[in-house]
Amino acid sequence: MTNPDPHPDSSRASDCPARPDHPVIERIAARTSTLGQGMTIRRALPARARRMIGAWCFFDHAGPLSYQAGQGIAVGPHPHIGLQTFSWMIEGRMRHTDSLGNNAWIEPGQVNLMTAGRGIAHAEESDPDRPGRAQLAQLWIALPDAHRDCDPAFVNYPELPVSHRGDLELTLLVGEHGDRISPVRVHSPLVAMDIRAMAADSTTLALESEFEYGLMVLEETARVDGETFQPGELAYLGTGRGVLDLAVDSGGRVLLIGGEPFEEDILLWWNFVARTPEEIEQAAADWQAGRRFGRVDAAATPPLSMPGLEGVRIKARS
Ligand code: MN
Repeated sequence: MTNPDPHPDSSRASDCPARPDHPVIERIAARTSTLGQGMTIRRALPARARRMIGAWCFFDHAGPLSYQAGQGIAVGPHPHIGLQTFSWMIEGRMRHTDSLGNNAWIEPGQVNLMTAGRGIAHAEESDPDRPGRAQLAQLWIALPDAHRDCDPAFVNYPELPVSHRGDLELTLLVGEHGDRISPVRVHSPLVAMDIRAMAADSTTLALESEFEYGLMVLEETARVDGETFQPGELAYLGTGRGVLDLAVDSGGRVLLIGGEPFEEDILLWWNFVARTPEEIEQAAADWQAGRRFGRVDAAATPPLSMPGLEGVRIKARS
């Protein structure tokens, strides 16, 4: 996915309130925008209140959407640096094509992990010939300094560990929980878990007290320590929490993310994660000159136009 803002300002990770060293419950309202033809996107990160949760630095919930043939997701080729894009497909299917020559469908229940490293370009598109449904979460993971100039790569993970607790279905997307380990390879200590309620139910989840956590409601409502959250709301949970009491209403779905606090101060602009404005300006110049990123020849949608660079040196207001 991409940041569709035509005039994005940069977002500096340190430009938010200090990370609490104890459990909290902060209610963060996602900002809503539209991608392409009528697809609602709820962006929970970066937010004014919290720029990151662990190395998670961007969180979009797209859809759910029913679309006609010729509509759906149509994000043309665009570049990334310094991050991994993590896509969790909830409903429908989407085609990923990239400048390494990958051309793969992601199906419901699967994860795509694209490592941008020093630079990659990709596109994401629904099947243009068929009507369908689309719902996914796309998150970006900031690469630590030791890995951010690595070779670009793409992996589709067709199966993730699934377990059940009463009427809750837990899918471990990233990291470890209990005796389960996700196959998804990341470069800092992280966790992500999708929790879906076949019928209303509740559970107590064990957490890592050194991690910071957030919980985003995707569908219906959920209660965290007795506080109710709606779709489009992120509950930021702070650190120092060993367990979480969670209740999810029937048909509900939430996404729990967490990670070791990310101590490097990142700068995010458009689809780039870097440390300095100069690095972002260089990546932008390379993309416009056709250097570094390669081409996405298999995409049906034209390349995205890059926003003006004036916002790179302006800190985000929201
Ligand atoms: Mn993208």
